[in-house]
Amino acid sequence: MIKKEYNPFETAQKQFDKAADLLELNTTTRELLRNPAREFNFIIPVRMDDGSKKIFRGFRVQHNDARGPAKGGIRFHPLETIDTVRALAMWMTWKTAVADLPLGGGKGGVICDPHKLSSSEQEQLCRGWVQQVVKNVGPYTDVPAPDVMTSAQHMLWMLDEYEKISGERRPGFITGKPVGMGGSLGRKEATGYGVMITVREALKELNIMPENTRASFQGFGNVSQFAIELFQQMGGTATCVSCWDQDDNQSYSFKKKTGLDLQELRSITDAFGGINKTKAKDLGYEVLPGDAWLEQDVEILIPAALENQIHDENVNSISNHVKIIAEGANGPTTPAADYIIKEKNIFLIPDLLANAGGVTCSYFEQVQSNMNYYWEKEEVLGKLDVKMTSAFIAVSNFAKKNKLYMRDAANVIAVDRVAQACKDRGWI
Ligand code: GLU
Repeated sequence: MIKKEYNPFETAQKQFDKAADLLELNTTTRELLRNPAREFNFIIPVRMDDGSKKIFRGFRVQHNDARGPAKGGIRFHPLETIDTVRALAMWMTWKTAVADLPLGGGKGGVICDPHKLSSSEQEQLCRGWVQQVVKNVGPYTDVPAPDVMTSAQHMLWMLDEYEKISGERRPGFITGKPVGMGGSLGRKEATGYGVMITVREALKELNIMPENTRASFQGFGNVSQFAIELFQQMGGTATCVSCWDQDDNQSYSFKKKTGLDLQELRSITDAFGGINKTKAKDLGYEVLPGDAWLEQDVEILIPAALENQIHDENVNSISNHVKIIAEGANGPTTPAADYIIKEKNIFLIPDLLANAGGVTCSYFEQVQSNMNYYWEKEEVLGKLDVKMTSAFIAVSNFAKKNKLYMRDAANVIAVDRVAQACKDRGWI
């Protein structure tokens, strides 16, 4: 369940303040980095299929671009707010910095429920979004990407609109495009695989063999599905996954002690990651309440859905077996829950690091698009592994050296890199 009372932007600012204190940043630097550099808040009129007009609200927030063009996804979600977008934009700045990419941070959104929109209505939303921000985005300014409930098709509509307006082919404007239309091989796997690469490195540090581990996942979208795929290839057993049920407006967990069958589950899942309950029961899955994924006796927990999912009311139901939490989603843990996870001595792989695989591959896509030369999948995934592993090692070494919690270590490294870039440019 989403706890609406948590404002993610306040969480992001609190995390920033902590890093700023540890780095002893001066007031000007804090002022520069505590709030977004630029914000766009606009309307998108759409002609609905029944002939009526409907006004949607859209956002783009560019938090910081000192290290390179702003970078970050666009979410379609009924509960989107300017504050969620601000928080996510700030997290993107830190994420690209932790992954050491020559990019800044941004995020976009539209308040809408794509389940309830036809393909033509969604296409108009995508084109309208681009029309509203066209002067302020571009391959060397701000490069959007997919995020919650947006897909490669959405990105292609957006690119097409951008190219129509600019009168030339500029595939580097957006990432997450379909393969063959400027997309990169490996992009769809990248976030989930990236999560598991960091888990693999954490298991090495803890001296645990992947074969001896079980994992439970929240969400069955792109991130979770590919994280499960790589986890199973590593020899681990994925026993539980939860997802949102569109018809019932609540989430359920699906459990099979002997291990989930990924192909089987994919075959009964809709385009937004919703698993069909009746079919799952027929296939021998236990269908449990939404929060059950968090209460499993497993070694690894992967929240890969939305923000604020592990909070003060459910954090204590985490089993004593859990050794690692890898945040596949952005901001899935509230500050109060984070404190308890730290006390429990669980090895936390923070979102900035755990889910940086997506934006890392987006960066590879942008490079390929700008030079119009595309790499083989092995090359993309090999480069992804190198980047993710070195980011993990940098954060983990820094944490050990300075006796810091992994989240604080990642934040300090990121904020320091961005502050330094701002300073070098003469902004502060
Ligand atoms: N939406 C993804 C994220 O939160 C990817 C962003 C991107 O590829 O630019 O990291």
